[in-house]
Amino acid sequence: MIYLDNNSTTRIIPEIFEALSEYTNIPMNPSSIHYFGREGRKLLESSRSKIASSLGIKIGRGEYKVIFTSGATEANNLVLKNHEDYHVFYSATEHPSVYNLCNQNEKAIQIPVDKNGVLDLSFLENNLIKLKGEKILISVMAANNETGVINNLKAISNLAREYDAKIHSDAVQAVGKIPLNITDLDLDFVSISGHKIGAMSGVGALIAKDHHSLKAINVGGGQEKGERSGTENLIGAISLANATEFAVNNIVNYTEKTKKLRDFTEEELKKLGGVIISSEVDRLPNTILVASNTSSNVQLIKFDSENIAVSNGSACSSGRVQASHVLKAMKQDDIASNVIRVSFSEDNTLEEAKKFVQVWKDINHSI
Ligand code: PMP
Repeated sequence: MIYLDNNSTTRIIPEIFEALSEYTNIPMNPSSIHYFGREGRKLLESSRSKIASSLGIKIGRGEYKVIFTSGATEANNLVLKNHEDYHVFYSATEHPSVYNLCNQNEKAIQIPVDKNGVLDLSFLENNLIKLKGEKILISVMAANNETGVINNLKAISNLAREYDAKIHSDAVQAVGKIPLNITDLDLDFVSISGHKIGAMSGVGALIAKDHHSLKAINVGGGQEKGERSGTENLIGAISLANATEFAVNNIVNYTEKTKKLRDFTEEELKKLGGVIISSEVDRLPNTILVASNTSSNVQLIKFDSENIAVSNGSACSSGRVQASHVLKAMKQDDIASNVIRVSFSEDNTLEEAKKFVQVWKDINHSI
């Protein structure tokens, strides 16, 4: 099997998985007062600190806090549901956990994108001017999961500061792939997810400026200082901390390896008539979205029968294959149902990339 769907999920890094066995046999509820609970608490807090130091932020008053969640979907929901009375600016290419929630909010304003998926910052600024003095949150992802397009968070953050708006970034696809300086960018909220970086599924975190107090979105025992109820996923948190540390320290190596595979594959696909989406703009080093004349569904089935796992690009939607809102927003409706997304990891090889190209050629030239 050749796995080329790493923006969807990754395998757990073997060393990280093995290290967890030290803790799995101990019943640790970090909220219990007894010895086992206290040991669990120590591990949870050291995981929190490791995530913070890996991402270059400080924890404490006047600094940041790290709130463990079940993943980025929940982290995104936690931010947005705490800002329902805000004018929320969100990009037209956000993940459904932001996009669909904002679509339900009458006060939310969608920031359009151009044909490459690049945000219209003058639209944002013009609307910020109109709403000056009102309560505003800007929610813009660091990098898009379908196209790999990287947003200019520095420019957006400058606008946020100028117009006194809070800023949230879904950084799921950025961690470990591109540098992300939360402190420099002065981000108020950042969402991260474990299973995209070699940790377990079902764990993530919301990083927030310490002075923003959040109301838990689920009613329960008041864990995470009342901001996220539910027994803490300690093993998940340990895996998230170790994976974040690894991912951040490994960016140079990751970029070098995945970019080589990406560039080779794109060149070959272009020679064969494939159209690379957003190739003119800044993108993640590992992601290719390629359009052809063959429907995504047909391609997915054929790749699967050749033991190659790719995706139709559309964000994880419970096995449903549907045209993506991202490509629609980019006014690329005509090709939206004919795309395949390849997302490499550093484990992939040139032989695998060559095999992918060969199968792509067979599929697209035999129809
Ligand atoms: N945001 C982005 C950009 C994603 O790619 C994903 C996963 N597809 C999520 C949010 C959701 O993350 P999780 O699976 O941890 O809920």
